Amino acid sequence: MKGMMQAAVVEQFREALVLRELPIPTPGTGQVLVKTEACGVCHTDLHAANGDWPLKPRLPFTPGHEGIGIVVALGSGVTAVKEGDRVGVPWLYSACGHCEYCLAAREPVCAEAKFGGYTVNGGFAQYIVADPQYVAHIPAGLAATEAAPLICAGITSYKGIKETQAQPGQWIVISGIGGLGHLGIQYAKAMGLHVCAVDIDEGKLDHAKRLGADACVNAKSGDPVAAVKKATDGGAQGVLITAPSLGAFKQGVGMTRKWGTCVLVGLPPGEFPTPLFDVVANCIAIRGSFVGNRLEMAEALAFAAEGKVKADIELQPLSAINAVFERLAHGDVPSRVVLDIAST
Ligand SMILES: [Zn+2]
Ligand SMILES: [Zn+2]
Repeated sequence: MKGMMQAAVVEQFREALVLRELPIPTPGTGQVLVKTEACGVCHTDLHAANGDWPLKPRLPFTPGHEGIGIVVALGSGVTAVKEGDRVGVPWLYSACGHCEYCLAAREPVCAEAKFGGYTVNGGFAQYIVADPQYVAHIPAGLAATEAAPLICAGITSYKGIKETQAQPGQWIVISGIGGLGHLGIQYAKAMGLHVCAVDIDEGKLDHAKRLGADACVNAKSGDPVAAVKKATDGGAQGVLITAPSLGAFKQGVGMTRKWGTCVLVGLPPGEFPTPLFDVVANCIAIRGSFVGNRLEMAEALAFAAEGKVKADIELQPLSAINAVFERLAHGDVPSRVVLDIAST
């Protein structure tokens, strides 16, 4: 495809993104070209643009790993998708397909995995080159803007719930009712779990109730661990910590029922002290988790296609990205911002 496209590019870490006119990329052998309709803005994009993590992206690059669009061109040898398909280009952009982790469908930890909007250019652009083996297939009836947050925030909360191994009828704590947590409540209810929402913001707890939470605990008042144990009759079988707060991690372990699992998906910098006696004596598992495999991507999207999960979204144009990052950095984004790239 000839012509130019708009992209929001990180040229220097910790500086504003620059809106550039770039040539539309050409898909190589085994790749596809996706015309972006929408792309969600994730906190990880901010970390990428700031060069916060040990493995930094190579400059310049285009962030965005919640890009949804239509396949408009195929490189040679592509059979997994066809022109006109609506796909998502996720954080797990590609993986090797043959290491022990890929063989076990644990591809997000493949040593050769590429990450969308991080090690390869992402969705803050009118076109994205994608690997058709790893794109998300967006079910019919799900709008691009609605699907966007699900391919990172949605799958991360869904997979995190699965990793707790809590069973229908059991309790799960969802700690942190933001971009991940508000989806986590809906997934957990749809999976037949009892949900106890934990946050420090009354407004977010009210929202949690509207989304179906069976109990709500404000972590700012009184003893939140005791309150959760009371509400769940001894602690939750599963605890999912989405809050980027070390205090929430420590509390989460205390909220976990004997033989339960506390799953961490938030990524605050630093370390938290683990109450070893409680963990050992109560046989508690603490597990890290991020995104999920391709089958879990399809599952996470299916819940939304069936109307059981719906992300709160706020639409913004691509040109607003720096203002959005500013708000994100100050915790000023109540829902998920989705860049409406189709109308750019
Ligand atoms: Zn993300
Ligand atoms: Zn691999």
